[in-house]
Amino acid sequence: MATFNNHQMTKEELLANDYREYRGKEINVYFKAEICQHAAECVRGNLAVFNPKQKPWINADAAKAEEIKEIINRCPSHALQYERETV
Ligand code: SF4
Repeated sequence: MATFNNHQMTKEELLANDYREYRGKEINVYFKAEICQHAAECVRGNLAVFNPKQKPWINADAAKAEEIKEIINRCPSHALQYERETV
């Protein structure tokens, strides 16, 4: 069973709720544009990972999984979620 942040949705629930998946080697990131409040916690947190000017705008391999997790936990809208790969 994958571990999710405090909003607690499974990968299947996230995908069923129109979250887009951004796969990384250590962590998969999920994003739902419709509920993003544009607080920019993610962009301020790490521009290499969350950069609206790059495509795709989320690069889940640009930082350590723990750092990405910590940034996602600060997202006020829960538009960002994560799934940790258990290798
Ligand atoms: S931190 Fe969350 S709400 Fe803020 S811009 Fe990023 S995804 Fe949107």
